[in-house]
Amino acid sequence: MSAPSRTNRALGTVIGSAVGDALGAPFEFGPEGAFSARFPKPGHGGEMCGGGGWEPGEATDDTQMAVLVGESLLEYGGLELPDVFRRFQRWAAAEPKDIGLQTEAVLSSGDPWDTAAALHFQVSQRAAGNGALMRAATSAVHFARHGREATMDAARRIAALTHGDRAAWEGTAVFHELVRVALDSDDPLDAVQDALDSVHPDHRERYAAVLAPDWHPDQATEFNGAVWPCLGSAVWALRTTSSYEDAVRAAIDLGGDTDTVAAVTGGLAGAVYGISAVPERWTAALHVPLPGFGERVLRVEEFAEIARRLSG
Ligand SMILES: [Mg+2]
Repeated sequence: MSAPSRTNRALGTVIGSAVGDALGAPFEFGPEGAFSARFPKPGHGGEMCGGGGWEPGEATDDTQMAVLVGESLLEYGGLELPDVFRRFQRWAAAEPKDIGLQTEAVLSSGDPWDTAAALHFQVSQRAAGNGALMRAATSAVHFARHGREATMDAARRIAALTHGDRAAWEGTAVFHELVRVALDSDDPLDAVQDALDSVHPDHRERYAAVLAPDWHPDQATEFNGAVWPCLGSAVWALRTTSSYEDAVRAAIDLGGDTDTVAAVTGGLAGAVYGISAVPERWTAALHVPLPGFGERVLRVEEFAEIARRLSG
């Protein structure tokens, strides 16, 4: 099999992340191993099962927010942060089925786009959730062409709209960089050290720990709803498997914040293996509702078109 083209990998990133999200959603806050206990044999179908309030194939807030970012980037031909914030607010006000606590507090605060997250962080001192990392697939594809520093910087700025803690920015920046490398057909696992070198010095050590080749999610010191173990678990899932499908299965089997860990894993694995490696039985059921934007529900074809345009 020949290596996937850049477009194939870009589609893999965006759709692969959404598929991981939808596949993992019914298992959120569940125990370790719940997915493979229910679906012991890979490739047998039925895995896009729904549950816990989710329809089979329904993507959650991770993907919904990624679409909002992607459509803003396409409409403005680049990063227009006040517009991204406005879209987030409009979506949040429409009461999506799921929304992160941190994200909701910032978007409903009434504070301006450029201070809301920072103000919230000053008061709460808690903003290192994975809620910015989870929505980064579209922006990672868009900014990949601009090189390492530019894509990492864009990641930080988008993350900062809702997360005042720099830890959340840096994790999102590392994700952007690993996707950039994969879209260039290089191995993102070989690029971890370079990415770490570009992480803010105050945060480097903690990311170096969770991205180390011998790190295992069992060593996490926080719940995987926090940004460090979430990114670490996604990279671990990529490192310890050899297909998109196995990487996403491994991510969901970790339990906890399964939709987001699988969304991040699916973005990375999709960038590496391409859309051709994402099972059609999973993409066929995928749909992305967009609360606040009419009755829109994106299906995979529409979603693929966004990915194609973002990859330029
Ligand atoms: Mg979610």
